[in-house]
Amino acid sequence: FVIPDFQDFIKDIEEMYWAAKSNTDGKVASYIPQLARANPDCWGVSVCTIDGQRFSIGDVTVPFTLQSTSKPLTYAMALETLGPDVVHKYVGTEPSGRNFNELVLDFNMKPHNPMINAGAILVCSLLKTLDKPEMTLAEKFDYVMSFFSRLAGNEVLGFNNAVFLSEREAADRNYALGFYMREHKCYPEKTNLRECMDFYFQCCSMEANCDIMSIMAATLANGGICPITDEKVLRPDSVRNVLSLMHSCGMYDYSGQFAFKVGLPAKSGVSGAMLIVVPNVMGICTWSPPLDPLGNSCRGLQFCDAMIERFNFHKYDNI
Ligand code: GLN
Repeated sequence: FVIPDFQDFIKDIEEMYWAAKSNTDGKVASYIPQLARANPDCWGVSVCTIDGQRFSIGDVTVPFTLQSTSKPLTYAMALETLGPDVVHKYVGTEPSGRNFNELVLDFNMKPHNPMINAGAILVCSLLKTLDKPEMTLAEKFDYVMSFFSRLAGNEVLGFNNAVFLSEREAADRNYALGFYMREHKCYPEKTNLRECMDFYFQCCSMEANCDIMSIMAATLANGGICPITDEKVLRPDSVRNVLSLMHSCGMYDYSGQFAFKVGLPAKSGVSGAMLIVVPNVMGICTWSPPLDPLGNSCRGLQFCDAMIERFNFHKYDNI
């Protein structure tokens, strides 16, 4: 086993879980009523090692919407189906140094990276327009959802229609980004912007829970082979690219500090979810709705800090 004394490890995780549980910092996202209603007490942690050992504690089966944690997944899928050369003809690999939804493109008039809204909307247009272009939006939704599900050991994902509808209503900035990129001819030819925006909101509105997301993180930790099904879902080069950008751009404007302090690829979302990858060891998903001013889950961050203090998981711990 990659973690030989799993029982001891579990004890540590439990301790860190309870320590973070009493943290009442942060505010739940409130830009749409469906997220504002989230229970701030919810807190779950799930772990899945690359050899399939699993542990979870707290609210690990309560569904939440993927929100920005869908961004590394759509990016992974685009890399896998279209290849990195095509994807990065359209989207960069540089942190933006700006807000995740900032109306800004890089010096080549491309979105900075796939982990911010502009880049993720662009990746959605690539998946919609270049990969199996004959598919309708309905077929594409099923196709993407089943790809996500393969990352998660064939666990079934849900979809929150209320979140989808209100995301779409309260999306002035995202539409502004969408049109701004069209003005600068960022999309592949034949892109239908309305469909592409809907597709982006749909990805944000898919639902999973900590248990399911920890398997996805474990598939990334395991070089693209799902530890539960042994299915090869991603090529190693796709995984490398996804993890690189999670490492440099996954935690909004805290990405640099997180890379310094925790040293692990991670991605957070506005629902309070966090995907954390310990390469060649395990995947972790934490979920707790209260967010700090930069948009990251307060309990999730505390958990990561504690974990790095206890274990030598930081990328540069073993030199
Ligand atoms: N639905 C949100 C948006 O597009 C997702 C962003 C996030 O999780 N930070 O604004």
